Amino acid sequence: MPETEAPPTLMVYSDAQLHALACIVCGRGDRELLAAGHVRTEVRPGQHLVWAVVACPDHQDGARC
Ligand SMILES: [Zn+2]
Repeated sequence: MPETEAPPTLMVYSDAQLHALACIVCGRGDRELLAAGHVRTEVRPGQHLVWAVVACPDHQDGARC
């Protein structure tokens, strides 16, 4: 069997989302934004950055599903 690459599992976020300027789930920045934990992005294979992110009230509980 040919070796298969693992599918990417990390989401792609916008700069605003990563800099806590927009909801990490829906991307809106015009609502109240609440701390929503952290997300991890892959800069290059094996190297990750961890970001403190925010979410709107609708999505605060669902940011890290
Ligand atoms: Zn949202």
